[in-house]
Amino acid sequence: MIPFNIPPRTGEEEKYIQEAIASSKICGDGGFTKRCNHWLEEHFSAQKALLTTSGTTALEMAALLCDLQEGDEVILPSFTFSTTATSFVLARAKLVFVDIRPDTMNIDEKKIEEAITERTKVIAVVHYAGVACEMDTILEIAKRHGLLVVEDAAQGVNAYYKGKALGTIGDLGCYSFHETKNYSMGEGGALIINDPRYNERAEIIREKGTNRSQFFRGQVAKYNWVDYGSSYLPSELNAAYLWPQLLHADEINQDRLNSWNAYYEALKPLQERGDIELPTVPEGCVHNAHMFYLKCKDLDVRTAFISYMKEQGVSCVFHYVPLHSAPAGLRYGRFHGEDVYTTKESDRLVRLPLYYGLKEEDRNTVIAAVKRFFIGE
Ligand SMILES: *Cc1c(COP(=O)(O)O)cnc(C)c1O
Repeated sequence: MIPFNIPPRTGEEEKYIQEAIASSKICGDGGFTKRCNHWLEEHFSAQKALLTTSGTTALEMAALLCDLQEGDEVILPSFTFSTTATSFVLARAKLVFVDIRPDTMNIDEKKIEEAITERTKVIAVVHYAGVACEMDTILEIAKRHGLLVVEDAAQGVNAYYKGKALGTIGDLGCYSFHETKNYSMGEGGALIINDPRYNERAEIIREKGTNRSQFFRGQVAKYNWVDYGSSYLPSELNAAYLWPQLLHADEINQDRLNSWNAYYEALKPLQERGDIELPTVPEGCVHNAHMFYLKCKDLDVRTAFISYMKEQGVSCVFHYVPLHSAPAGLRYGRFHGEDVYTTKESDRLVRLPLYYGLKEEDRNTVIAAVKRFFIGE
C-alpha cells in the first residue's frame, strides 16, 4: 500500500536528540528551540518566532493576543481544520464563516467586507495547501476597518506571497510542525509575531502567565505571575527533531515540488478532458507543495475514486467537512451569505499521497491508477 503520508525524516534526528539529552536540558527554550526560532526569523524575515507545542497552540496564543471581548467576531473560512475555530472560541469570540474561492479553496477576499459588523475584530485567513490567500486585498480591508489579521499558515511554511513568507504578512502567523506537515517535530508549531507590540505578552502567555523570559534575560529581579497564560513551550527533544529538517528545508521543499509537478503534468490531460480539476496557484504565489489534490465531478465520483484507489494499493483521502455545518460550528458561529462553494467544493476534493521521499516509482503507480479510474484500461 502506498501511504498517504510518511512523516519527514532526514536521518540526522537521532544525532540531535542525543545531543539534547546529553545537554541535560530537555524542557523548553533550550539550545534547539532557540536555534529553530532564530532559523525561522532569519529565513522568513520574521520579526519574532516562538516554537510552540502545536499549530493549534500557536493559534490559541494568536487568538489570546488579539485581546477579544465576549461576543467579538472573527471572520474565517468554514473550509478549515477545527482548531482555526476552537482557538478563537477559547478567546470568547463568535465565529463568522465566509465562503471560499473554488480555485484555491481559500477564503474569498471579495466576500469578507460584507460580513464585517461593529463587533468584528479579526480576519483569520487559512493558506490552504500552502497557496496564499489574496493578502493585499485582505490587508487593505483590515486596515480600512481597523481589524487584526491572523494567518493560519499551518500548511504554509516556506511558501510565499509576492516575495513574503506566509505567516509574516498579517499581525500574527501560525505554523504547524505536526507529522503531516512539510517539516515536523511530531507535535509542534510556531507563533510568528509581526507587530513587535505583542512580543512581551506573547512570551508571558507562553510561559504560564509569568515573566520568566524577562527574568532569564535579567530584565526583572524575580519572576512573577503577571497575566493569563498556559504551557506552550515544546520540549527540547521535539525541537531537536525539527532542527535538521530546517537545515534541509530547501531539499525537502524541492523533493515535494518535484512530486507535485510530476502529478500536475501527468494529470493535466484529465483536466483537459473535463474529468477532473487541478489546483490553481495564482500569480505572485510560490507554494510549498504541501498537498496535491484534485477535484472529481461530485461526491459520488469521489467516493468511488477513493475506494478504487484503495483496491489499487493507493491511500487517497478527502479533507475538511465544513465547520459551519458541524455541531460545534452551529453552536459557535454563523455562515455569512450564501454557501456557494464551501460545501460543494469540499465534497469533490481528494488528496493524493505526497511526502518527502515519495519514490518516482510509487508516484507513477499513483498516476497510472488515477488514469485507469478516469479513462479506463
Ligand atoms: C495542521 C493544521 C492545524 C493544526 O496544527 P497542529 O500542529 O496539528 O495542532 C491548524 N490549521 C490548519 C489549516 C492545519 O492544516
